[in-house]
Order: sequence, then structure tokens, then C-alpha cells
Amino acid sequence: MKTDRSEALFERARKVIPGGVNSPVRAFRGVGGTPRFIRCGEGSRLIDEDGNSYIDYVGSWGPLLLGHRHPQVIDALREVLEVGTSFGAPTEREIELAELIRQAVPSMEMVRLVNSGTEATMSALRLARGYTGRELIIKFEGCYHGHVDNLLVKAGSGMATLAISDTVGVPASFAAATIALPFNNADVVEQAFRAHGSDIAAVIVEPVVGNMGCVPPLPGYLEALREITARHGALLIFDEVMTGFRLAFGGAQQIYGIRPDLTTLGKVIGGGLPIGAYGGRADILAKVAPSGPVYQAGTLSGNPLAVSAGLAMLLYLQAHPEVYNQLDRRSAELCADPPAGMTVNRAGSMFTFFFTAGPVVDWETAKKADTARYARFFHWMLEQGVYLAPSQFEAGFVSAAHTGEDITRTVEAARAFFALP
Ligand SMILES: *Cc1c(COP(=O)(O)O)cnc(C)c1O
Repeated sequence: MKTDRSEALFERARKVIPGGVNSPVRAFRGVGGTPRFIRCGEGSRLIDEDGNSYIDYVGSWGPLLLGHRHPQVIDALREVLEVGTSFGAPTEREIELAELIRQAVPSMEMVRLVNSGTEATMSALRLARGYTGRELIIKFEGCYHGHVDNLLVKAGSGMATLAISDTVGVPASFAAATIALPFNNADVVEQAFRAHGSDIAAVIVEPVVGNMGCVPPLPGYLEALREITARHGALLIFDEVMTGFRLAFGGAQQIYGIRPDLTTLGKVIGGGLPIGAYGGRADILAKVAPSGPVYQAGTLSGNPLAVSAGLAMLLYLQAHPEVYNQLDRRSAELCADPPAGMTVNRAGSMFTFFFTAGPVVDWETAKKADTARYARFFHWMLEQGVYLAPSQFEAGFVSAAHTGEDITRTVEAARAFFALP
């Protein structure tokens, strides 16, 4: 496989962009080598600048549930270009998107749009603190909630891959406002509340974790978080930036039947454009400025391009609920019959092949994975035209554009790796 042009571009990029990339997860740091510079995408495929074609399981890290350049999304974008790309004033489309989100995710009685998942979680935390008058936040090891200062504690994938434990630049006092506990263990949450209950504003959790690799909740775990937070007057925040509209139209909270106080969204709701959203109980959202005292703003929030792409995506999903069955079927095929010594975790169209005998239920068990072997697997698959995340600690994503043949080819490429001497 020829990579001359990617190599030349990477050389150039490193001179003007830190590490040559605009987000660390795009670097092949953990596995070595040159990241592929992408020329275009179409359906399930990525084409790089050297003309190599890949079956894409990164899907822009989650947003591309319908694959690259879905016609309905592209048409919606074309329409917006005829009227203007930003007004800094309210538009009807923003109401439509908020109404559709509320319809799909009933716990989100009111919704505020922002520009990224990071902004959504940051704003949800500020709101939780403003509403409860408390300062402490509980998060879970291996969960990533964006690069928010006081959430960059034991934050999974990107930092784990680079072996960064505590980010330089985050004041110790910020990190001290965060209690990081192991995922999938309700007892330690109970203990933390016994010790600090009246100071804890919120528990924030990825209901199905994607950011230490895919790790679903054990039976009863999310129910326990709901019960404990309610008992102590703390808010339960589901960070569904990755799982929202991916696991089901109503997200993980629909599947597990839990009603969080606040929810954050991103990724899929922008149809591939930058967006985020937070929402939840109307009495809590009433505290957000201008209706309340918790300040949060954004020059490009509710941007017409992002809102229209997202709206087109969600309307398509609403009209085609069978998409979720197809995603589930194809993902099941992809994850069937893992070789001995390997653990495959899957929730709907999110999956991770962990190079460990498992089970993988939290960060302690995830990090037992053989990352050197994963690196060899990653490069092998890349050479066979299959684009996976360069880190072991990421979820892969199947999209509606993946064909049965894509899946078969991927499984064959993986089998060939495991048959190597
Ligand atoms: C991706 C992600 C974020 C951050 O979203 P950005 O748009 O990258 O800022 C937050 N939470 C979860 C669960 C995510 O997967």
C-alpha cells in the first residue's frame, strides 16, 4: 500500500499543527506510523490522499451513523447554503431539532444546543453545580466526557494511549472537585456518597462506555446510580454524546429504561457537523441564562448548517427505525466467533475487540489488554483496507452504509491475522 502522499503531508502538518493533528486520537502515536490523510469519504469507505480505499469503522469517531455523504444530509446542507450559514439570531430549525430530540429522549424536556460534546458536558456540570449549590462531581475511570478541565481525570482512550494520567494545565484544585471511581461498581458510589453526600452535585456517566473501548453496564448498575443519586439529592447525568441516537433512537436511556436528570448529546445529532446539546428536567434547565442565573453562551450555537444536517439525520432515523435492526445484525456478524483469548464487547453498533481473555467490565480489566498485539492487528487490518481506531481503548462503529460484503471482508482480514504464525 502506497503512503507517500500521507507521509509528505504529515511532514508538513507537524511544522504548523502540534503533532500534525487537530485531535490526539487521530495520531498513530500508540501504534507508530503515519496517519492517513483523507481525501474523501463515500458510504462505508474512506479514500486517502494516495488513493487507498478503506472500510471505515471509525466513522468520524461516532457521528456517521448513516455513513459518509448520506444523500438526505447532503441535500439539507445544500438548502442551507442558499439562505446563509450563520445569523446569530434564533431560527425555526433550532426549535424543530429541540422538539425532535425531546420526542426521542423524553427526559430531555428542554434542550440547549452548543458546538461540541465537550461544551455540552462542561455546561451540564456547571448547571448541576448551579442547581444543587454543591461542588463535587463523581465520574468513572475510563469514561471520557470531553476535554473539560475537571473531567480530565482518569479519562480513558486518548490520554491512556498517550500515557498521560493527569493533564498538565489543569489546576489541582479543579481536579480535586472530581471523584473518580471504578465503573460498574455501585458499592464504591454508595461509599462516596456516605462520605461526601451533601457536597456531591452530580454523577456523570457514559451509560454504555465507549471511551475505554466498549464496556456495557452490568445488570442493575445504572438503576443503582439512579437510586443513590436521587436519595442524596444529587443529579444523574447521562453522557450520551456517543450513545445518543446510536444505540437506539432514544439512546441508552431508552434501552435501559432509566430517566436521568440531565443528558448530553453530540456526534450523531450533528450528522457529521460540529454540534452538542444538553438538556433534561425543565425545572433544572430553567436555571440556564437568560431564564436563570447559570451563564452559558455560544456565537455559533444552533448553527444552521449543523442543525440542518442533524435534523436531516434524525428525521431519516425516525422514518427508518429498521436501520437499528440492520446495524445490530451486521455488528453481530462482525463480532461473531472471536478467537480464543480475546474478548469482544458489543452494544448495538458499538464494539471493541479486546486483546485479553477478559471479561472487560471496567478500566482495570480493560487495561490488561495486550496493546502491542493490538498495534500489530491495527496495522495488518489497515494494510488489508480496514480502518479501525489506532487505539485498543476505543469503540468501533458500524454504520448503515456497511454492506454484508464489507463485514465478510473485514472478518476474513481479521481471521487471516489470527492464522499468522
Ligand atoms: C466524544 C465524546 C465527548 C466529547 O465530544 P467532542 O465533540 O469531541 O467535544 C464527550 N463525551 C463522550 C461520551 C464522547 O464520546
